[in-house]
Amino acid sequence: MFGCHMHIYPWDLLDEGLEAVLERLQGEAGIDGLTLVAMHDEVEQFRPHPAVLPRALHATGGVCFQPGQEHYVTTRLRPPQMEGLRKTDVVALVAEACQRRGLRLRLALTPWYSRRLVQRHPEIASKNLFGDPSRHSLCPSHADVIHYFSAVMRDLYDYESVEAVVVDHLDWPVATDPQAFDGASLLFGPEGADLLKVCFCESCLQQADAVGLDGELARRQARLLFDRLCQSTETPSFTPDYKVEQNRVLMDYLQWRADQPLRWVQRWLRDGSRPLVISAPLGLTPDWLARHLPQWLEAARFLQVPIEALETLIGELSQSTPSIQPRSFRNMELLLALDDGLVEESAEIVRQLSWAAQAGVAGAAIRHYGVALPRYWTGLHQGLRHARRQA
Ligand SMILES: [Zn+2]
Repeated sequence: MFGCHMHIYPWDLLDEGLEAVLERLQGEAGIDGLTLVAMHDEVEQFRPHPAVLPRALHATGGVCFQPGQEHYVTTRLRPPQMEGLRKTDVVALVAEACQRRGLRLRLALTPWYSRRLVQRHPEIASKNLFGDPSRHSLCPSHADVIHYFSAVMRDLYDYESVEAVVVDHLDWPVATDPQAFDGASLLFGPEGADLLKVCFCESCLQQADAVGLDGELARRQARLLFDRLCQSTETPSFTPDYKVEQNRVLMDYLQWRADQPLRWVQRWLRDGSRPLVISAPLGLTPDWLARHLPQWLEAARFLQVPIEALETLIGELSQSTPSIQPRSFRNMELLLALDDGLVEESAEIVRQLSWAAQAGVAGAAIRHYGVALPRYWTGLHQGLRHARRQA
């Protein structure tokens, strides 16, 4: 059957009442699975639901379950609890309700971002090319961070009825914080903005050195290129003497770094651990897809991909890349974000769901309940009915 999961934050579920929300999802929309956000960085959210307060919510980051201490013996990091949920094991509550109602349950986490952990352990922060530490992003090169992330995953799989863990933003975290980064691509062009994202912390430099790369030289080259770009009188995208791809040392470093999240997934699966659902990294380009997709599809149980990328994939890559066969599409899900500006009305939801089912994609993941307006429910209901007939 064409499955459909709704992504939901714990406070949205609790504020409106667990049973009422589940009833609505199953009854009004025909949704058969729930993806509960079990670990997240701090969130600011406007909630368009009449029954909930505050409407403009600011939630501190953390986890919404009771961590099993035995999982965290190989790392100094401990998961902070989400504020206001200190005594509630939301995951246990929701798991019980889903089981009773025959809903499938997934748990979502955002591994590399946690302001509270960086505050407690400044040494695990990502650092940009100028050495500025991030206030949000943890560097996945740091051994403590890797052990911590694996511990949280094992902790989540301890809940028996959990179908899978959904990993969000598995691509490398952005080393320059959002406020400082806003507008960077307008000011410095896409290449300049990309350089600001890259981590050059001590762990990254050491590990790059260990595989024969010169991380320190790559960092100096990156700074040189970036400063030249800042002083240029040309429009950033046309600056003739600014070309990252002509710089071998820097390119090797960027390539090595981009491959690390996939290495982590492969290690996780090789250790006999449970499968993952991976939300496709942001900034998916046809280039990236052609290079990484076959490996990601092999590694993940499901790869969630937004409609434009799915269309590219199925329209073009199935012909040009022999390793991507239509059966691989059974390993993919449509990622349908209600707040990305593309879905303005029900008809668009119906179109996307029907298209995905016809293309042979396994199901859909809707994001997220907190921003779902009443006008979307009919679209979801109709779209899922069509999709299930077509699948
Ligand atoms: Zn790093």
